[in-house]
Amino acid sequence: MIWYAFSSKVDRLPPNEFRIVQEKRLRRAVRHAYDHTTFWRNWMERAGIEPEDINRLEDLGRFPICTKEDFVSRPVHERMGEDPKKCIRHSSSGTTGDPMVCYRSKKYYDYLAGYNLQGHYISLRKVLEIGPFDRIMRIVYGMPWEKDGKSKTNPRRKEAIGIAARIIGPIHDRFAKTIHFRSSADEIIPEIIEFRPKLIVANPSYLRILADTVSRTGISEIRPKALLVSGEVLDESTRKYLETIFHCKTFQRYSVSEVGKIAFECERRALHVSDSLIVEILNDGKPSPPGEPGKIVVTVLLNDAMPLLRYDVGDVGIWSDSECQCGRSSRVLRSMEGRQEDHLTIESDRFLSPLAVLSALHQVADLPRWQVVQESTESCKLRIFNQEQNQRSAVAELVQNLRILLGEKVKVEISSETHEQLRAKFRPVISHLNMRDNRWTMTNEDSSRRGLSVSSRI
Ligand SMILES: [Zn+2]
Repeated sequence: MIWYAFSSKVDRLPPNEFRIVQEKRLRRAVRHAYDHTTFWRNWMERAGIEPEDINRLEDLGRFPICTKEDFVSRPVHERMGEDPKKCIRHSSSGTTGDPMVCYRSKKYYDYLAGYNLQGHYISLRKVLEIGPFDRIMRIVYGMPWEKDGKSKTNPRRKEAIGIAARIIGPIHDRFAKTIHFRSSADEIIPEIIEFRPKLIVANPSYLRILADTVSRTGISEIRPKALLVSGEVLDESTRKYLETIFHCKTFQRYSVSEVGKIAFECERRALHVSDSLIVEILNDGKPSPPGEPGKIVVTVLLNDAMPLLRYDVGDVGIWSDSECQCGRSSRVLRSMEGRQEDHLTIESDRFLSPLAVLSALHQVADLPRWQVVQESTESCKLRIFNQEQNQRSAVAELVQNLRILLGEKVKVEISSETHEQLRAKFRPVISHLNMRDNRWTMTNEDSSRRGLSVSSRI
């Protein structure tokens, strides 16, 4: 208990002390991975590295980057650093490729609970100006899987969960509710009004749909104090739109299922990296300077169950060039640009990140759901889902903005679709030139033309 309470305050240490703690954790994580997992011992031996070679943050550059394909190419038992029976099993959502089985140690779970206690349950509530008894509502996609409407805890997880998580979890659950979004905001609005949440946690695209309905119908009973978005990139136009409609601040969190929380926004809305890991942003293997995009590579410091070292999470990010004055020493991301493989390739040497596309297209309010699909360097498809009569002019503006963004040489084809063609893990921008699979975002009619991965070029 003391450990997690202490751990979760690490990012408040002065920068030099923060670095000392991070480097100590790094040495321990590398040593643990080498001593306890076949995967990482082989990985280091092949690269001619001993655990002692990784002492300082700069030494990480010597460690070969591990992709998801590398990692899952070996059986789970080779990647385990602890007895799986004592760990908490967790599957990644499989937005790129098959779902990946991951494990978290009890100690790491306690850390996350402590992080909740210090960083979320109290401090983050303070950041978001949410009181200790204010209710939280989470909106997720899909059908409720429980019969009685109450969320059930997976019994295996309950058994394995750490002490702190066991104490904090139920308190948290007492004031938190998860509801399921399927196709229209009308299905969930009565539940939101009844529960009266002060914090709503959801993907920005669900919140946009909710905001459109609230604005169209004039519903005034939904009055959260804050919104917390995750799961998709957040563009500034959407943030402003949500804040205007709901009259509250919108905060962003960046998580990756196989890693956990990577970054969260502080009260100044700077996107700080969690102290439980080290984030690198790399371009061609070298650190990207602030302001320049690069791929996000993560070293998890505190999860002994399934260590992850220099793991390429598949996203592109940009460091901020200014430091935050909130008192946290952890680094700040300027933006999350989206998945590497969702970047559009324009004229073979120009890339457009999903964030750039969203920023350009979300300047129009009350849009139907849309998706840009790049089919070749010369053509893109704009899929419009469930367009209503009154959205005609908004769609015309959307098309116009996309044409300006892509330039004259790229043909834009527009198609009308129904919401049945949407998938749970909706990605508004995808590229056939780069995507490795069509698991979540495409329908069967779409061919999966595999090509070069943008990761080799970013
Ligand atoms: Zn800050």
